[in-house]
Amino acid sequence: MKIKIAEFSGYCYGVKRAMDLAWEELTTNSDKKVYSLGPLIHNDQAMKKFTENGLIVEDSIDKIEKKSIAIVRSHGLPKDFYDKMDINSTQIVDATCPFVKKIQDIVYENYKSGHIIILIGDADHPEIKGINGWSDNSSIIINSVEDAEEFVFLDSESYIVAVQTTYKLEKYLQIEKILKNRLKKVEFFNTICYATRERQDSARELSKTVDAMIVIGGTSSSNTKKLAEICSENCITFLIETSKDIDIKKISSFNTIGITAGASTPDFIIDEVKDLLLTK
Ligand code: SF4
Repeated sequence: MKIKIAEFSGYCYGVKRAMDLAWEELTTNSDKKVYSLGPLIHNDQAMKKFTENGLIVEDSIDKIEKKSIAIVRSHGLPKDFYDKMDINSTQIVDATCPFVKKIQDIVYENYKSGHIIILIGDADHPEIKGINGWSDNSSIIINSVEDAEEFVFLDSESYIVAVQTTYKLEKYLQIEKILKNRLKKVEFFNTICYATRERQDSARELSKTVDAMIVIGGTSSSNTKKLAEICSENCITFLIETSKDIDIKKISSFNTIGITAGASTPDFIIDEVKDLLLTK
């Protein structure tokens, strides 16, 4: 059996950085409680490894004990989180992805200087919630062409526009075109990160050259599901969480297998899958 791995697969730069920072903190600061607000990533196996080593995952700021350590995950958090942790003398390990941090900085600086902030993205996504918190939750959030066409803007105001890092470029360009026509004073910051696109493009290309694809990722990871959807357009595709989910009998009937993994799939899970296939 021949195995091919997608050129871009698994942890993106921001997730890898966050996981490395969190791991370092857990393994060097065992005398203090280490918290994260929400899971660091959407992958149960990786999170199990972290919680077994002392990470406490909480869903509310109020549950983080004073004088502990709080890890900020790669999606980032609103400004009031930092303010509250400061009052509580909690040490912050800021694992916000630098690409997300850049958006928070753009929003904060422009909000302070009197601009109105427009965020293009999903209002329920933690990244957008976090960024909005750097404008006192005053940002206008636009997530469709209809939103861009219907929102009532004021000619007297100056606007800046920033975009959720994982937003689809084509959809952003449609919205940008509308806003350019509708707004008198506006500056655009295309803050899309291309890690997601690179993973999707390389999975698509690989799936055209193999007999079957294995897509590895957590069941709650939307980017993993998307990868499986793309691959299934070109070949038989198996979406699995770990090597235990592989149906060896079925897989053995293929000559060439492609492997890709979602942005929150750790290397050790990808390696386990690879090693299992190589023994067949
Ligand atoms: S997808 Fe891009 S912005 Fe998001 S964590 Fe990864 S590198 Fe950072």
